[in-house]
Amino acid sequence: MPPIRQLPQSLINKIAAGEVIERPASVVKELVENAVDAGARRIDVAVRGGGSELVRVVDDGCGIPADQLPLAVASHATSKLADAEDLFRVATLGFRGEALASIAEVSRLVIRSRTPDGPGGAEIEARGGQLGEVAPCASPVGTSVEVYQLFFNMPVRRKFLRTPQTEFGHVSEAFTRIALAWPQTHFSLRHNDRQLFELTPCRQWLERIACLFGRELADALIPVESVSDQLRLFGYVARPTHSRSNNRMQYLFLNGRHIRDRALQHALQEAYRGLLMAGRCPIAFLHLEMPPELADVNVHPTKFEVRFQDAGRIYSQLLSALRGKFLTTDLTVRARPAPVEDAGGGHDPARAEQLRQQLVDWAKGKVASWENQPQGESGAFGSQRPGPGETGQPLELTRLRATRAPVAEPRPPSDQGLTQVSQAPLERPAPALQIHNRYLVAESHEGITIIDQHALHERILYEQLRERVLGGIVETQSLLVPEPVDLGPREAAVALEHRELLAQLGMKIEPFGGDTVLVAGYPAMLANINPVEVLHDLLGRLLSGDKPPQRRDLLDELLHTIACKAAIKAGDRLTPEEINALLQQRRLIDDSHHCPHGRPTELVFTREELDRQFGRL
Ligand code: ADP
Ligand code: MG
Repeated sequence: MPPIRQLPQSLINKIAAGEVIERPASVVKELVENAVDAGARRIDVAVRGGGSELVRVVDDGCGIPADQLPLAVASHATSKLADAEDLFRVATLGFRGEALASIAEVSRLVIRSRTPDGPGGAEIEARGGQLGEVAPCASPVGTSVEVYQLFFNMPVRRKFLRTPQTEFGHVSEAFTRIALAWPQTHFSLRHNDRQLFELTPCRQWLERIACLFGRELADALIPVESVSDQLRLFGYVARPTHSRSNNRMQYLFLNGRHIRDRALQHALQEAYRGLLMAGRCPIAFLHLEMPPELADVNVHPTKFEVRFQDAGRIYSQLLSALRGKFLTTDLTVRARPAPVEDAGGGHDPARAEQLRQQLVDWAKGKVASWENQPQGESGAFGSQRPGPGETGQPLELTRLRATRAPVAEPRPPSDQGLTQVSQAPLERPAPALQIHNRYLVAESHEGITIIDQHALHERILYEQLRERVLGGIVETQSLLVPEPVDLGPREAAVALEHRELLAQLGMKIEPFGGDTVLVAGYPAMLANINPVEVLHDLLGRLLSGDKPPQRRDLLDELLHTIACKAAIKAGDRLTPEEINALLQQRRLIDDSHHCPHGRPTELVFTREELDRQFGRL
């Protein structure tokens, strides 16, 4: 083995840099945090090329005296800690004195700064860790930091950077987290030549939330507050009508620092138990304020995770605060028209109801009437008809109709809500009982099978729709008067970026200025589903993850939504023909045993098991 050698300082710095600076978003986070620590009232962030070409953060904070510029860029140099004790009561966002040194190591860094009482501005430049001289320059009071060509001297890292669009997504998220935490500070964010955010100072946290995520969401938030001797917890959580498919919309702040904490996320989820569908995550904006010495923020290089002295207590305080709030809040979902329709314009409730009924009929296979409809452009709320490429074809996706009418006459439903379908000698499906208007009980050669009617139908619809959609046939229902939808700036940007993809899904959107987009058309299959909700879900998918999701995944998500909403519900009384048809369809699909969400569609009780239970074995 070669002899052990002390690593040169620049290599040590590079290794350390890798820990703190992972991608352009890390640079933005560190620089903006420094600006906040400097007491800035206004912080402007501009990036180019997703941040790998340039990140510039300008603040009007306290500035750095010219003679301290070289120190600011030196590693382990900070003005925020004086002694070891300070480490355990950190009140600033930074304290490790590593960020600027790390950035300087892996980029070309230019700092210009001026203090309020300084004679003038001064600048310093570092390139790949090589420090230049301090030189006078013109500068307003405050600091401007420019970071060019991140990782130019670490080709491997640079290669790992994703597309500018993806990197900018991370930048924007980093920015959002800090801007959320400091509503009284003015923030702006530009990407290339586009201004994404201009956030004026606000007194109310809710205003900042609305600026970042849209008014619609802000209006659905419920305030929460809970104070104990050690912890003040306050903020907003969303009504159960608003949820997401992942937990990215759970913003937690500890003393102004954005944190992720599994236990607290769990408490949140727990508080919504029974209020949200399986797989949905609550939306929350919560501040935790406690004496700094009760939490250790020095457990992670990017200070993302923290360690609480009394995690159990915080967990239960959050849980009981939310539970208590929900108990005293009217969370009932009022039947109201979908927001898209709310906005007035082309909405006709009678027509919508008719469409809804058509969809139900279609879902149940009663679509014969559509076969005779004329072809042509589909107008606003026009008749639903087969899309291009399948002219004249009936929608044969979901025939719940039996291929042959049952031979035996069904008996009238009994008072107990029990529909009995008597044995039809020539019908293949076994006789089935509908119980409680939600389960079908059928005899099978093994024993008896209990089927969840909704889950099974959902699976059948999903499979059949998928085949159709993968074939490239999604019908769009055009709106005569396009409906404006308020989005958050990030959602709006991503929506417009993915217009084509959304159009392939039948969702037609157009820019309307600001963060508003127009929904000009939506998938015809969604007639009874709120398109705005679906749009939010799809945008949420587009915003999450490193890579934009594949068209296939998005389709899949949309299909789940449609299948679930269009399927017969638990509680729907089925006619004997429908029961038979459902049982027949069940045999035509590959996995009829699970609904698309993975829940079972049926349970089997074997004869053996029954015999055993009755003491026959
Ligand atoms: P830390 O924030 O952990 O102290 P940094 O490397 O981020 O470490 O910054 C080093 C020092 O440079 C800070 O402690 C602070 O004194 C100074 N500094 C950095 N950015 C700014 C800024 N925007 N305004 C004023 N001072 C700054
Ligand atoms: Mg710092």
